[in-house]
Amino acid sequence: MKYKSTRNSGLSVTAAQAIAQGISSEGGLFVPESLPKITAEDLKALAGKSYVERAEFVLSKFLTDFSAEELSNCVRSAYTAEKFGSDDIAQIAHLYDGTYMLELWHGPTCAFKDMALQLLPHLLTVSAGKTAQGKEIVILVATSGDTGKAALEGFKDVPGTKILVFYPEDGVSHMQKRQMTTQEGGNVGVCAIKGNFDDAQNGVKAIFTSKEMVEKLAEKNRMFSSANSINWGRLVPQIVYYISAYCELMAAGEISCGDPINVVVPTGNFGNILAAYYAKGMGLPVNKFICASNANKVLTDFINTGVYDKNREFHTTISPSMDILISSNLERLLYALSGEDDGIISQWFTQLKTEGKYTVSEEVKAKLQAEFVGGYCDDEATKATIKAVFDKYSYLCDTHTAVAVKVYEDYKAKTGDTTKALIASTASPYKFTGAVLEALCGEAPDMDDFAQVQKLGEISGLPIPAALAQLKEKPIRFTGSIEAGEMPETVLSMLD
Ligand SMILES: *Cc1c(COP(=O)(O)O)cnc(C)c1O
Repeated sequence: MKYKSTRNSGLSVTAAQAIAQGISSEGGLFVPESLPKITAEDLKALAGKSYVERAEFVLSKFLTDFSAEELSNCVRSAYTAEKFGSDDIAQIAHLYDGTYMLELWHGPTCAFKDMALQLLPHLLTVSAGKTAQGKEIVILVATSGDTGKAALEGFKDVPGTKILVFYPEDGVSHMQKRQMTTQEGGNVGVCAIKGNFDDAQNGVKAIFTSKEMVEKLAEKNRMFSSANSINWGRLVPQIVYYISAYCELMAAGEISCGDPINVVVPTGNFGNILAAYYAKGMGLPVNKFICASNANKVLTDFINTGVYDKNREFHTTISPSMDILISSNLERLLYALSGEDDGIISQWFTQLKTEGKYTVSEEVKAKLQAEFVGGYCDDEATKATIKAVFDKYSYLCDTHTAVAVKVYEDYKAKTGDTTKALIASTASPYKFTGAVLEALCGEAPDMDDFAQVQKLGEISGLPIPAALAQLKEKPIRFTGSIEAGEMPETVLSMLD
């Protein structure tokens, strides 16, 4: 299996090259040249297997330059009961009849990013061994809150790597900030920027494609890579859990092999929902992809109109990991929907950069609307949903997952579609304790973050993740805060 770039279809690199490099040199994203297929027989066989075995099966189809032993070592080091609380790495909870919550947050940092970022360092180390000729890999991360911590935890003290994370100073929850600023490890750096996630992500992308920066690193035998979902190594582990969830539902007798399901995803950078789209491309029976946004509803508008327009007010919401106006992975979807037209993709994404806006063709829009439904809800509706879902079903959602539940319920009310649905539950409610308590109690009690966590535990009965409770004792290590424009020199000084 070879990989090409969304802005250069003529390129052909191995999976190891795509993962080690992170982003293509002309700014495009790496995509597989074709999607491997899974058959009904494969699904039936996988239904009787463990998460680790399913992951080995799916990854072996994409990472064909990895040996079976290399893949097995990567997967078995990443997905352990010790790190995920049980061998059931991606647990499914029943919300109500025919509606299932795919809980992707039982990993070490309590958000779905662990599903990919526990594996990525292993994939990257093997990839670098094959392609990077002994260079030290410098991972640059822009985070809207959860990727940063998950990447730090995944890469901490991994030999041959350094990791630097940039987060929006006022754009993350207290718990998210605390998780990052107390990060342990000898190869890690964390810095706040005065700006939002898009500023951080643009800064990181500009550094990757800056000849000067790349040369400066090369002088010291270093190279950049990415742990954001622009890296193929982030997406491929996410395909696994959609296939695994389908197999779980089959094994539990909730669906029969071949039954279509709807997939509902609270979306920001479009990585998670794109992984579900790729799973469908491989043969997983999916009916609709329901793309849920918060008040930053650029994707809802795009799906409804075919016009992507980021020239709008940026909202800071209680679901900060979705506070994004430039959804990077949409580029991969549009590449597929346009019939892999690298010219038109380069044109649209250049327009996005220069004018903040592009309009897709009628044909692409029709294909998009045939499979994707967009919806959004604001903070008030998010909080009302947390409360209603807890009161009715005794299920506690985090703020992001609540957006998905609300958008799904609106969709059902509007269409009457009764297809069974899998809703991605993307974070532990304890990461957003303040907002969740406010939803349940009307206002958040006036106490410190950790007392609030205790309080939420008493109200909900949901076990408190040890990793969050322990943060209270950890010293703050990183207090830096810079303008987005200062990112290049900050990167160089953090590396010295
Ligand atoms: C990152 C994140 C999202 C958005 O996922 P994308 O892959 O960026 O679309 C949703 N919810 C939570 C909790 C997240 O951390």
